[in-house]
Amino acid sequence: MAKLLIIGLDGATWRVLEPWARAGRLPHLAALMARGSWGALRSTVPALTLPAWSSLITGRNPGAHGVFAFRRLAPDRYDSPGLASAGDLRAPTLWEIAGRAGQRVGVVNVPPSYPIRPVSGFVVSCLLTPPGERFTDPPELARELDGYRIDLQPPRGIVLDDPVNREQALAYLDGLRQLTRGRTAAVLHLMRTRPADLLGVVFYAPDRVQHCFWTYVEGGAEPDADVAAGVAAVYSALDEALGELTAAAGPEATVILVSDHGFGPKPAHAVHLNRWLADAGFLRQRPLWTLRRKMIRKVVPSAWRGRLDTLDRILVHRPRSRAWADTLEPGTAAVWVHVAGRYPHGCVSPGAEYEGVRREIVTGLQALRGPEGEPVFQAVRRREELYHGRYVTEAPDVIAVCAPRFGVVYHSLRRDLGQRALFSPFREEGFSGAHDAMGVYLFAGPHVQPLGRHREYPIESIAPTALHLLGLAVPRSMDAPACTSLLDPEFLRQAPLRFTDDVPDATASSPGWRSPEDEAVVAARLQALGYLE
Ligand SMILES: [Zn+2]
Repeated sequence: MAKLLIIGLDGATWRVLEPWARAGRLPHLAALMARGSWGALRSTVPALTLPAWSSLITGRNPGAHGVFAFRRLAPDRYDSPGLASAGDLRAPTLWEIAGRAGQRVGVVNVPPSYPIRPVSGFVVSCLLTPPGERFTDPPELARELDGYRIDLQPPRGIVLDDPVNREQALAYLDGLRQLTRGRTAAVLHLMRTRPADLLGVVFYAPDRVQHCFWTYVEGGAEPDADVAAGVAAVYSALDEALGELTAAAGPEATVILVSDHGFGPKPAHAVHLNRWLADAGFLRQRPLWTLRRKMIRKVVPSAWRGRLDTLDRILVHRPRSRAWADTLEPGTAAVWVHVAGRYPHGCVSPGAEYEGVRREIVTGLQALRGPEGEPVFQAVRRREELYHGRYVTEAPDVIAVCAPRFGVVYHSLRRDLGQRALFSPFREEGFSGAHDAMGVYLFAGPHVQPLGRHREYPIESIAPTALHLLGLAVPRSMDAPACTSLLDPEFLRQAPLRFTDDVPDATASSPGWRSPEDEAVVAARLQALGYLE
């Protein structure tokens, strides 16, 4: 029996859940909607799994917990220092705060939870876990969950009109259904054998299905009946999970259903931001770089070539480049200003010159129009306008959030600068869906009013609300108010919100990746999921 059960549906959106529930396809969800309060949960910028769950479980924005993307960002060097992991989350989690207050905690597959930070209870780690590594704490739990699978790799490029890929797609959908059933059975087992006051579990299947089969879920085209049935079976398995887990938690438990971000159709256009920066004179290409490269290949001894023959190095005139771009996720561009004293070849003085460069870039990107004259970005912000806290200086200098029909693609400066045109069709990798900012929340239980559709809340609101429902004081350092507007006024009278300044230290960082091989395997997996380029 849990006092509080948090069920995460990665990437779930009301765009899908509401019509499916109303059509009778998700009866358990419909029952929760009828007796609870639900609405949109605004994700982090970027609307991406790792920073978003990090904010959800810490109640803080990325500037205060330090996880901005799947990669560690590089505010003072020219390449990323590697993949982010739970070791990069530098704020106490809901699980840690509740555990320290003497409550029993269970965490199943909630990112980021590899490497495992032990809690007062149990942890089954997340999608960042390399194959073969320990994935539970306590370790013996792995034996009980024999055969447990954390995630499932999508087949490369699901193109449905190819019969070979169609079989792969059907197998993938059936795999996701089994993964969901297996996760539900494991959590039910854990609820029986290791009762917790606070239990959190994340199901990855909605994100996976929506990336590959968006046209099937949004209520449009369903060109293949078997695929449509496979998609529906995954959602049925998720709905059964809601029913079974809620029933097992008992009538006294509060259930919180959440997603980390929403979903929509994938963008139509890719915008090549480095092309724009080069055209605007911020990013300087070396003259005759093709020739230079040929020369280096011919003349330089092979032992040195690796160091000199990196394309970006030959292509980009670093000392004269004032800014370049990469991405946080395909809907969010990161622009880095080449600040002197921060980067080895930095050429923009901090202060007035830095602000001038940012102003020009912000104004230019806000004014940028697409092929049909529409704005390319819905928001272009300086980092301190989006984030606050100890880690803001790790964030990109300017962050640009794409309008729905646009995406940013970054493979390398070479590929971006090889593009003559500013726009091209958004890459085809079998993905038909893409993240958006509007995730979901739903609360149901004895202390929750049955308000039905309710106001929007920021993702940082979930952690303080959860702590209050557990009878604990809310750390003042959390970034958003608790969702009190949906709680029963009588409950709030008897148990008014309490606050505290006493929070566990930004937890001593757990070790990072055990080996470069581990990191490489996980990077390949994230690439297949479309999370890394
Ligand atoms: Zn996600």
